[in-house]
Amino acid sequence: MKNLTGGDLMIYRADLHMHSTASDGQYTPARLVGMARERGLEALALTDHDTMDGLEEAIRAGERLGVRVIPGIELSAREYPTFHILGYGFVPGAPALAELCRRMKANRDERTERLLAFLKEKGIELTAEEVGSLAGGAIIGRPHFARAMVCRGYVADNREAFDRYLDTEEYHRRVERGKPPVRECMEAVKASGGRVSLAHPYQIGIGDEELDRLTAELARDGLDAIECDYPKYTPEQRAFYTHLAEKYHLRRTGGSDFHGEKVKPEVELTALELELGWLLGEETE
Ligand code: AMP
Ligand code: ZN
Ligand code: FE
Ligand code: FE
Repeated sequence: MKNLTGGDLMIYRADLHMHSTASDGQYTPARLVGMARERGLEALALTDHDTMDGLEEAIRAGERLGVRVIPGIELSAREYPTFHILGYGFVPGAPALAELCRRMKANRDERTERLLAFLKEKGIELTAEEVGSLAGGAIIGRPHFARAMVCRGYVADNREAFDRYLDTEEYHRRVERGKPPVRECMEAVKASGGRVSLAHPYQIGIGDEELDRLTAELARDGLDAIECDYPKYTPEQRAFYTHLAEKYHLRRTGGSDFHGEKVKPEVELTALELELGWLLGEETE
């Protein structure tokens, strides 16, 4: 197949959004790659929250199993409560992104202290050790707190943990971690040789007009793509994000945001048909 510039289109069965035990996912990076292969995926990106720790293992597993593994990361930016950008195709361990990840981890560790104290006020006694051992890796996320609360019988399930404690107005006002501005997130990915996509725009929680303005600004500042495929989108959302991608000359990415059924029971790895020549540097002129 040829694209508009006459080069070959690189269409892959791919899932470009998933989390491993390096952040708040259930499965190790190698296991994820194995599961992806079983599902017939040809390419995937591991996009753990604020860390590159799982990438080496995933890349090695990909080489072993014949799955193309694209380095990825999902970064939380400060401008909105849930504002995530996806970095792809950077050099794992590159200094600019490594430095940003160090700051992200420090912000998370400070939040862990605040969150333990916040929950204690509410009669929920957890220790840093138990949450840390549930987390396993360096990144402690709210889903680890939710799991600890379920294990200790404070709440019935993940949903109750978030609804009552971990995603309330009071949580966001008093506890939430410090985050870098979106421009710093984008610059760190770009300085590390990568490309940037806007993740699940509906989670930003703004209207279509404001999202249009935001996309225009981000595109001007170097945004490369929008996540146009995501299992939770309505057909209208999918169409609108695709429209924005066209309007601002952005590429399209897509992924499941798979965390494992224990973390997000309703989400599975997904084989999407995605054009990845722009990301894999294989577009012929
Ligand atoms: P963190 O980055 O540690 O603050 O946690 C973010 C993670 O928490 C993401 O994986 C989200 O999917 C999950 N999360 C955030 N809000 C909710 C919610 N209301 N219900 C369930 N999971 C949530
Ligand atoms: Zn997550
Ligand atoms: Fe996200
Ligand atoms: Fe995610």
